[in-house]
Amino acid sequence: MPAPVVSVDTDDGRPDFGPDDVDALADDLLAILGPRGVGTLPRALERAGRDGSGMSPILSAQQLGTPDLVCYPRTADVVPAIVRAAVARGVPITTRGKGTGNYGQVIPRFGGLVLDMTSLTEIHSVTDRAITAQAGARMINLEQTAWQHGSQLWMYPSTVQSTLGGFLAGGSAGTGTIVHGRNHEGFVDALDVVYATEDAELVHLDGADAQPFVHTYGVAGIIVSASVRLEPLQEWRCVYASFATQREAFDAAYRVSSIEPKPRLLSADGPMIVDALPEDPAFVSGRANVRGIIDARAVEEATDLLVAGGGRIEAVREGIAETVKLSTLSYNHPTWWLQKAQPDKWFHMECRGDALVTRLDEVEEVYEGGMVHLEVGHEMMFGMLNGIYRDPQQVIAGVPVLEELGVGIHSPHQWYVDLDAERVQALAAQTDPKGLLNPGRWM
Ligand SMILES: Cc1cc2nc3c(=O)[nH]c(=O)nc-3n(C[C@H](O)[C@H](O)[C@H](O)COP(=O)(O)OP(=O)(O)OC[C@H]3O[C@@H](n4cnc5c(N)ncnc54)[C@H](O)[C@@H]3O)c2cc1C
Repeated sequence: MPAPVVSVDTDDGRPDFGPDDVDALADDLLAILGPRGVGTLPRALERAGRDGSGMSPILSAQQLGTPDLVCYPRTADVVPAIVRAAVARGVPITTRGKGTGNYGQVIPRFGGLVLDMTSLTEIHSVTDRAITAQAGARMINLEQTAWQHGSQLWMYPSTVQSTLGGFLAGGSAGTGTIVHGRNHEGFVDALDVVYATEDAELVHLDGADAQPFVHTYGVAGIIVSASVRLEPLQEWRCVYASFATQREAFDAAYRVSSIEPKPRLLSADGPMIVDALPEDPAFVSGRANVRGIIDARAVEEATDLLVAGGGRIEAVREGIAETVKLSTLSYNHPTWWLQKAQPDKWFHMECRGDALVTRLDEVEEVYEGGMVHLEVGHEMMFGMLNGIYRDPQQVIAGVPVLEELGVGIHSPHQWYVDLDAERVQALAAQTDPKGLLNPGRWM
C-alpha cells in the first residue's frame, strides 16, 4: 500500500507506559551513563525533539511528539544496556542522529526515550572497498577520511553534517546517487545493530542480512556502526552554467546526464530559486542555472553540451572541497533556501520521472506558483515541485494530477515507513516484539 500523502494523528502503536516507568528508566540510565549521560531538563528535551520537518507546513502545524528523556552514550558497548533497560521498563526508544530528517521521523510520537547517537563518531577502518564507522560519524567526515585514502563515498546527502546512522535509517539519496542508486541499493556492506529485546546485544549483519535495516527509521533495530561502500577517488570539476530560461536549463541538464563517466551530481533550477540560493558569482540573478560535479575527463563534453543548449559557462572550479559545497545546494536544499528567503509561503512535493523535464510546464501548473528543482537521479529524473501553500487538501488534490502526467510522487508531509512497509513491519515484529522502537510509523 502506498503511504498516504498526509499523516493522520492517531494513537495506533502507542506503547503502554507512564511517568513512573520513565522515572525508573531515568534512574537505570543514570546508573549506566552517569549524570552527564542523561537529560531531562526542558532545554535538552526541546533539542531532542526538533528536526527538519519545519520544511513541511503540514507537519509544522501538528504536535509531532515530545521526548520524556534523552540519553547520550559515549561508547558503543553501553547501547545494548540502555536498550535492555528501556525494554524492561516498557518505554519507547527513538534513535536520533543529527536530527535533520524532514518527515518528522526522528520526533518521538508518543514520547519516551530519545537515544542520541551523535557522540559515537569513531571511524574504525578504511579499505579500498568500504569505510567502517560508528553511527554518529558525520557523512562529511567519512567523505574527507576517504579522500585521504584515495577513495570517495558511493554517496552522501546534501545535509553533509548528518550522521551515518541517520542517513542509512532516514535518508535515501544524494551526491553519487546518479551512479549508485539509493542508499538501500547496495551501499551498505555490514551493520552492527541492537534489537529491542530484554537480552539485547550487538548483532553483526553482513551483506544481504544488513540491507533490510536500511531506510527503516530505526523501527527494526538501532544501528551502532556500519560499513559503507567506497570507490576510487575521481578528479572532479564543479561546472556552473547559466541560461536565459528554465526550459533551456532543464533540457541541457537532461542531455548532460548521459555523459560518461557519469556526473556525481547534476542539479538545475529556474531563476526564482537561483535568486534564493546563497550569493555566488556563478549564480546570475534572473537566469536559470545548471550545476554539476563532473569528472575532469568529461568536462569538455559537458560544457559543449551546456553551451549548445544555450548556456553560458559561469565557473569551472577545481578541488574536492568544492564538490561538497556544490552538494549542499542539491536535493531538498534549494527548497530550504527558497523557504528561508520567503518564509511561510512554500511547500514541496518530491517527484520523479522524465515528465519533470518533458512536461515541465504542465507539472508546474499543478500547484499555484509551481517551480521544479531538478536533480538527475539514477536512470531517472528526480525533483522537488515547490508550490505556494494553501492547505493540506490542495496538496493532496495535486497528487492524482501529477500521476496522470507520469510523475511519481513521494510526500514529505507524512511520517510513516515508506519503503516496503509490510516487509519492515514483519521484520520489526521479530526484532522489536513489544513495538518500542520509534513507534507510530505504520499507516
Ligand atoms: C534541507 C535538507 C536537505 C536534505 N537533503 C537530503 C538529501 O540530499 N538526501 C537525503 O537522503 N536526505 C536529505 N535530507 C533528509 C536528512 O537530512 C538526511 O536523510 C540525513 O542524512 C538524516 O541524517 P540525520 O543524522 O540527521 O538523521 P536523523 O534526522 O537524526 O534521523 C533520521 C531517521 O533515522 C533514525 N535514526 C537515526 N540514527 C539512527 C541509528 N543510529 N539507528 C537507527 N535509526 C536511526 C531516526 O529515528 C529517524 O527516523 C534533507 C533534509 C533537509 C532538511
